[in-house]
Amino acid sequence: MKKKKPIKKKPFLPPMSLSYEGTQASKTGTWRYLTPTYLNKLAPCNEACPAGEDVEAAMVLAGQEDYLGAWEKITQENPLPRVCGRVCFHPCEGACNRQEFDQATSINALERFVGDHAFQSGKRFTPPQEKKKEKVAIIGSGPAGLSCAYHLASMGYGVTLFEALPELGGVLRYGIPAYRLPKKVLEEEIDNILSLGVEVKTGARVGQDVKWGELKKFDAVFVAAGAWKSVPLKVPGEEAQGVMSGLDFLQKANSGQTVDLGQRVAVIGGGNTAMDAARSALRLGAKPLIIYRRTKEEMPAWEEEVAETGEENLEFIFLSSPVKIITENGKVKGVECIKNLLGPVGKDGRREPRPIEGSNFTLPVDAVISAIGETPDFSFLPEELRKSAGALPVDETGATALQRVFAGGDIVAQPRTVSYAIGSGKKAAIAIDATLRGKNVAEALRSAHWGEKGSLSIALYKKGGADGVAPEVVKFSDLNPDYFKRQERKPKETLPVFQRPTGFSEVNLGLSPATALYEAKRCFNCGVCNLCHNCFMFCPDLAITARPDKQGYQINYDYCKGCCICVEECPRGAISVEVKK
Ligand code: FAD
Repeated sequence: MKKKKPIKKKPFLPPMSLSYEGTQASKTGTWRYLTPTYLNKLAPCNEACPAGEDVEAAMVLAGQEDYLGAWEKITQENPLPRVCGRVCFHPCEGACNRQEFDQATSINALERFVGDHAFQSGKRFTPPQEKKKEKVAIIGSGPAGLSCAYHLASMGYGVTLFEALPELGGVLRYGIPAYRLPKKVLEEEIDNILSLGVEVKTGARVGQDVKWGELKKFDAVFVAAGAWKSVPLKVPGEEAQGVMSGLDFLQKANSGQTVDLGQRVAVIGGGNTAMDAARSALRLGAKPLIIYRRTKEEMPAWEEEVAETGEENLEFIFLSSPVKIITENGKVKGVECIKNLLGPVGKDGRREPRPIEGSNFTLPVDAVISAIGETPDFSFLPEELRKSAGALPVDETGATALQRVFAGGDIVAQPRTVSYAIGSGKKAAIAIDATLRGKNVAEALRSAHWGEKGSLSIALYKKGGADGVAPEVVKFSDLNPDYFKRQERKPKETLPVFQRPTGFSEVNLGLSPATALYEAKRCFNCGVCNLCHNCFMFCPDLAITARPDKQGYQINYDYCKGCCICVEECPRGAISVEVKK
């Protein structure tokens, strides 16, 4: 008998819906509660740049080796990238999110690399096609005046630059020594600005060679005369032969004039002028001794300059102040100092030096360079503007008490740095353009703001605002650091220390092309889509596709169910979430 076959049980299958139409028929977008959107956000470096550069966009381009594109981005806002790449205090790096991960990106050195590369590749500014009938006078050719001249000339205004000294550049030429900013680099950047058709009057001191009344023929005036009056030491013997102010000494040294310093020179002060004066004196063959009333920690000079001054083995005497210049036959023989203790914190937020009675000591020196600060000289201004104390008063648009007269740079109350001066020159250009075109000036400036720190973008002004960019600044916590590799910041190349005192050759030699690219690629590109494809690859609904222009991605909301994996996986926080369908 045949054996009966056991009846096979059918495998258990749960009830399910089957579609023969493919996933497209299932519009998962109807489930959505959270809506992700691509919205570039503000990078902290942009917000922190007083010159208002689109640092972030320039870094993206530099990371793609498009250095000329990066130069275009930078020079839209700042005509002096080669200068800034050498002397700017780079607050952008202080705000860089990368420092919470390993070390800040080398933005400043990259700016220099981009500027030098573009210049060597023949990149120059293009003069405007159309000229406007209005004319603007600018008093002073430092970074504030140059920046204002650049932006106004680019917009087609007739610009005349009045400069008291024989050559243009202000402190950039006559203050900052060539070992930090070679004169050739400065001249090449100035020539590029002048090529836009800026008229120049050098040796023309307003108030002396040019009367204030003569400026009435201009439609607007920008006062950018800086702060050139040295603060006196107010000690006996100050009028002796061999005592000079830091800026006077630097002006002579930077113009190639001989300065008799003798052997030993006391440099009084702890700011940039003092460091530059001491290091220049060293290069001129003297033995400088820096006397500062507080400690090294309180020195107002830029940290990198203090470090370089230390590398050059310059001698410091801290916690000491001069009380008398010792003279013989009207000439400096020495300086008498008193020792200080640091007291409580004063009005400027730093601990006050307090002299210790009976602690006087004498140092034999042949010259004294006094570099304890500079103030503006208002004597050339009309009566209405002369009543200023310390700084020329301006309103939030940079306007003075006189109609169509604006002011910026070191003559107004703002941090005294090159990038702030450049930013204020741009602010004046925007305010002047808005005034002359009959626009609301405050509104015009508001449309140009990058974030909350006062940084202004002329590109935003020309566009009428930050269209399509979220105003919020990207924080480190908004990024997804899992996608970044820890990479050490590479240092700039420098001239060997033993070669430095022998002349005024540049000390910082910048980045090599390989290091520049490495640093550009270290940039997190905070808040900006740089086409890394993560969102596209992670989207479970295939709702993300490349935009037709290939410049970014787009979301098909018929299918996006709002899981926000794209937001999680975006390394740079370039996708925002809203609670709406
Ligand atoms: P300035 O650069 O001072 O230019 C003003 C110009 O106006 C001058 O050329 C002057 O001759 C001209 N002028 C004055 N009166 C008249 C008049 N009546 N008629 C016509 N022209 C006139 N900042 C940094 O960021 N990095 C640095 O490394 C740095 N180093 C410095 C080193 C020194 C020694 C000094 C003094 C300052 C330094 N600073 C530095 C500060 C920075 O240089 C200034 O903040 C900046 O130059 C200010 O720019 P400005 O255009 O307002 O004025």
